[in-house]
Amino acid sequence: MASADLRISDVIAHPLRATLPDAQRTSQGDWPSLDIVVVEVRTDAGIVGWGECLARTSSPAYAEAVETILKPVLVGRNPFETASLWRAMRGRLTGRAGGMLVESIAGVDIALWDIMGKVAALPVHRLLGGAGRRQILAYASSINWGDDARAEAETRDCLARGFRAIKVKIGQTPRAAIARAELIRKIVGPEIRLSVDANWAFDLDEATQVGEALAALDYWWFEEPIVPEDIDGYRRLRERTKVRLAAGESDFVATQARDLIATRSVGVIQPDVARAGGITETRRIADLADAFHVAYAPHVGWSGAICAAASVQLAAAQPNFLVYECMIFANPLRENLLTRRVGSFQDLVDGHAAVPEGPGLGIDIDRDALARFTIR
Ligand SMILES: [Mg+2]
Repeated sequence: MASADLRISDVIAHPLRATLPDAQRTSQGDWPSLDIVVVEVRTDAGIVGWGECLARTSSPAYAEAVETILKPVLVGRNPFETASLWRAMRGRLTGRAGGMLVESIAGVDIALWDIMGKVAALPVHRLLGGAGRRQILAYASSINWGDDARAEAETRDCLARGFRAIKVKIGQTPRAAIARAELIRKIVGPEIRLSVDANWAFDLDEATQVGEALAALDYWWFEEPIVPEDIDGYRRLRERTKVRLAAGESDFVATQARDLIATRSVGVIQPDVARAGGITETRRIADLADAFHVAYAPHVGWSGAICAAASVQLAAAQPNFLVYECMIFANPLRENLLTRRVGSFQDLVDGHAAVPEGPGLGIDIDRDALARFTIR
């Protein structure tokens, strides 16, 4: 069979553990056993490849990741395409330093803050030394990057719901992105605050072109214009354009967000509490931003109800809070998981969301809904 015709047919991960005859000892502790994962990649020609993952603790968790996260982007592909497959796999695990582990920590950390609040009979925003906000300004997120008719209908719906700030998705090409920004500004008039989110669509030169147009249209911010790891690109873009830049939803920890903040490349930092290690690490990022006079605007995106609730708590507490991302698309994991909604567009008053005053996150989980959405 020609190498070009070869296809990956299956990926099997074998989680292994062996007890050592002699426990090993290092400065980090004792290692009485070792875990590894052996990876078996099968092809349609019958050729089998073997690999190994370092998996210091819990090889079953790594094996699960290989089979459920990586395998779907491998099966059917040519095994010689190592460079593009590597990128595809990295993308599945959200790639940059942090990834799955820090997102896992986030869930645990948010739950710990909920416990602390319940023990103290205080809402989390008070434990955080809250800024005392009873309500927080919300912006509508987002107008989809679809055709003009859909974008116009979604924008008019946001206005009808009382939003005073709206975010608009844009993408390639710069000309199409600028046309969309012009259309929405024309629909809402000069008083509504508008921002755009490019989700990394541009390179530095394209982003410069779009940024100039956004500044002329009086946009509030230009979100994730370029890939998040291009820190130098953000710094250059900041020098080239007048529009405020926003980013941070792709960062996992404060040390990653540090360069964007310390160079003042962004005017708004947007960590997602369910990605950026929970309330503990997200607050570190928001505090770091505050020290550099950069605003904090929580990212919620496609996360669920508990992320939204934790974001509301942080928003209520942080001195440099700017505006809360209020998602406007139907998301059962945000709307149905709690017995009473928090931070939802259906409950806004004058474009503001109420801050729960109950203990902890101020939420009650609907256990029936929890069971209904559980896939295990
Ligand atoms: Mg975004």
